Amino acid sequence: MTQNAPDSSKVADAYDEITTVVAKLWNGNLHYGYWDDENDQSTFGQALDRMTDEVISRLDPRPGQRILDIGCGTGSPALRLARRYEVEIVGISISPRQIEVATEGARAAGLDDRVRYEVADAMSLPYPDDSFDGVMALESMVHMPDKVQVLREIARVLRPGGRVSIADLTVHEVSAQERYNSAGASSTEETYAMARFDEYGDLLEKAGLIPTEVTDAMRNTRRSIRYFIEGALSCRDEYVRAIGVEEFEKRVEEARRIEHTPELGYALVSARNPG
Ligand code: SAH
Repeated sequence: MTQNAPDSSKVADAYDEITTVVAKLWNGNLHYGYWDDENDQSTFGQALDRMTDEVISRLDPRPGQRILDIGCGTGSPALRLARRYEVEIVGISISPRQIEVATEGARAAGLDDRVRYEVADAMSLPYPDDSFDGVMALESMVHMPDKVQVLREIARVLRPGGRVSIADLTVHEVSAQERYNSAGASSTEETYAMARFDEYGDLLEKAGLIPTEVTDAMRNTRRSIRYFIEGALSCRDEYVRAIGVEEFEKRVEEARRIEHTPELGYALVSARNPG
């Protein structure tokens, strides 16, 4: 693990301040897209949904199941899950503002009977043992300094035999996070703690989970960066009002650096609880 130790309140503040801006971009999806290969002509919107599908299909959801979405953002992935499968979903985020927007979105979509969002910290889940059939975490683990602690909490609330599906930004070399951070954006310096790609299996096992897949999908997703930059620049004024011009410039610079940081990995991870 890298040395950053983000604390939850900083992560909450960072997401609270940009919620209004980013909720409009990318149809409320706060994650990378997925393309099959260089010839895949899918739009960014299609690729975003495809990434959600990559994560939710690994849960193999069955009608009537209860799924926990850790780090639900403004709720788009959970709504997609609810539309595709007859399941119940609890989405949690550390950002109260995101939960407000997500709750409103579920109501507007007419899905609030099956999708509920709550403010909660994944490092200490407010749910009883064995209360979910599946747990997903789409690009939220990167903010949690103690992965084993979160994975233990996941294993605890998951029923025996239940599935876990995670998408997480990782590094192949520890120095990569320093390079990534070197643009100096406070958002990443204070809120990112990337795991090493090749330690993911061990982290899962330490938490009592059985890893079934750890795949690096960076080559399927790297194209996203271009769209992140384009999206941010398209609403520059509003973004700058939320975070200030200096931080905005640093974030754009940082996004550009990702393209030149080959040691970053994008882990698609599946695991299950014993039993
Ligand atoms: N999964 C969503 C959002 C990804 S952004 C999407 O794909 O659109 C990362 C999310 O993780 C944010 O919602 C953030 O609030 C959440 N998060 C980060 N640390 C958290 C923690 N300790 N507990 C709960 N949620 C957390």
